[in-house]
Amino acid sequence: MPDLIFISDKEGNYLENFSAKFAVLLYPIDKLIGANVRDVFDANTAELHLKKINECLESHEIISYEYSAVREGRAFYFDARIAYLEKDRVLRFIRDITSRKQSENEIRKLYQAIEQSPVSIVITDLEAHIEYVSPAFYLTTGYSFEEVQGKNASLLRSGQTSDEVYRDLWKTIKSGKPWQGEWINKKKNGELYWESISITPILDTSGAITNYLAVKQDITLRKKAEQEILDLNATLEEKIEQRTSQLEETNENLLKEIEERKKTEDEILKARIEAEKANLAKSEFLSRMSHELRTPMNSILGFAQLILMGELNSGQKKGMQHIIRSGKHLLDLINEVLDISRIEAGRLSLSIEPVKLDNIIFEMMDALRPYANERQISIEMVNSPYNQLFVKSDRQRLKQILLNLLNNAIKYNIKGGSVIIKTEMMDQNPDGIVPVRISISDNGLGIPAEDLPKLFNPFERIGAEKSATEGTGLGLAVVKKLMDAMGLNLGVESTMGEGSTFWIELPKCEGQIESIGKSGKLTAMESGSAYEKGKILYIEDNISNVELIDQILSTQRSNIQLITTSQGKQAVNLAIMHKPDLILLDLDLPDIHGSEVIKLLQTEESTCTIPVVVISADAMPQQRLKLLKAGAKNYLTKPLDLEELLKVIDEFINNSSTL
Ligand code: ADP
Repeated sequence: MPDLIFISDKEGNYLENFSAKFAVLLYPIDKLIGANVRDVFDANTAELHLKKINECLESHEIISYEYSAVREGRAFYFDARIAYLEKDRVLRFIRDITSRKQSENEIRKLYQAIEQSPVSIVITDLEAHIEYVSPAFYLTTGYSFEEVQGKNASLLRSGQTSDEVYRDLWKTIKSGKPWQGEWINKKKNGELYWESISITPILDTSGAITNYLAVKQDITLRKKAEQEILDLNATLEEKIEQRTSQLEETNENLLKEIEERKKTEDEILKARIEAEKANLAKSEFLSRMSHELRTPMNSILGFAQLILMGELNSGQKKGMQHIIRSGKHLLDLINEVLDISRIEAGRLSLSIEPVKLDNIIFEMMDALRPYANERQISIEMVNSPYNQLFVKSDRQRLKQILLNLLNNAIKYNIKGGSVIIKTEMMDQNPDGIVPVRISISDNGLGIPAEDLPKLFNPFERIGAEKSATEGTGLGLAVVKKLMDAMGLNLGVESTMGEGSTFWIELPKCEGQIESIGKSGKLTAMESGSAYEKGKILYIEDNISNVELIDQILSTQRSNIQLITTSQGKQAVNLAIMHKPDLILLDLDLPDIHGSEVIKLLQTEESTCTIPVVVISADAMPQQRLKLLKAGAKNYLTKPLDLEELLKVIDEFINNSSTL
């Protein structure tokens, strides 16, 4: 027997023990006989046992009770029975019920959990008759346990769930498997609600289904929220669809618009190309025409001047003077049209080199002084260190620009007025270029502010056409086009009654002598006199270039004589006269182009063998090729490389030694 069985007396002394074995022993079994309950238990429990023993001795009935004791910190539960044996002696049966007590506790806890759970628990028999519902069932359905006990769970059906679902449910649970689902049920008050349900079969120890357990939860709120989201989604989708179709439409329209715009742009481009072509053709035509007109005009003027020198009566004289004046005017017009059309047709070749300001300005002042004197107008250049500066420019074109501006400053001045030329250095621009400004101021009548913007338009004379002042209205247009072609700035300021100031800006640069001088190569060499004697003819109108070559020769090749001229035509005569060993030739000359000089030299018997070396600022390969083909022996570009130049000189002055 698993029980502890022993005899005890009235005082609680253990007298005899019958137990075979006992699971939980609070006291060593071999020491139990002879011990008292007070030795084994705490005071309270010992008192309980003594009380129960005496109850039994008094009543002679079997006394049963439960008690607990702690051993090694663990609680144990016992079931005790006391039977009357004889006077003062009882038989005690003690059984360990600890595990049963624990199970009961577990069950109680589970039951409490079910009772307090917000989820409804329903237990039915095999035909779905309700055996138990938890309190939450009442809260959800409105039915109390009493109302539904023994009733079929189908009383909650709403009629909204298909038979198919129920068939599936019964099939599943009958086979011993759990079933889960969501459906609409009906409350006692008829209200419908969404329920999430999970039904599990309860099996007995043999595995047979005894009951079904349903766990149910009202999910109406969740379903509502889900529905709202679904509804929202649906409207959202609808809206997206609407928007998408709107966008598609807009896209289509845009595409159409783009296509149309492209078409228009293509047409505009075509029209522009056509217009540019036409403009080019026009410029080409004007350029040819002007060129063709210039030759007969020159002979008309030449012969008219000859006739004027002869004997004529005063009427004839006046007539001839008229022819000459008109002819000159026509020639001016032709020259200017030729210039503009050349620039527009892109046939303007620029030869950019360092140009010294005072040289070129004085040259232009000298050229115009007779005209200014005739009109009693003084021309002055303000004394300034900036006058000595070098600027980067095409020398011939800069001369033309200055000539046009100075000419206007004299032409549109008052009698006895003055023209003042000023140079100044401006602030360095972001590209690191320092512009040098040349201003030409007059004290003429001035130009109305509203006319300033049209001033540089071709054939715009701003009312001067009604006056006696002769002009073509092309001078300033040529100035503007030349400045544009060189990428340079110009401007005008004018005050009525006080005068006008026209200005141009050119980039400052170093002169060639300075830059070569800096390298220390321009110092006299003792051996300079050791070289062969010779003669060089240098055809160049840029005085600073002439000075440079002069210095190079006097320091490096002092035995060589230098002859110079700025005029191409005159160069041929000089060559015949001096028979130089070498001709250095600039291309950009005031009278004829360098290539024509070569041609002229080749036609003369005495000059056709003289070697010609071109020195030009034009570094374009095609220009170089053209000149070499025309007969030049070499082509050096400005700024000059001193060593290269000396090598070339030595080559032609018959010198075998090198630098
Ligand atoms: P042109 O002198 O042949 O008429 P330009 O192109 O040189 O043509 O000048 C255009 C016009 O600008 C001139 O007709 C004149 O009215 C005006 N103009 C040019 N320079 C001056 C100046 N310094 N003072 C006043 N007016 C000027």
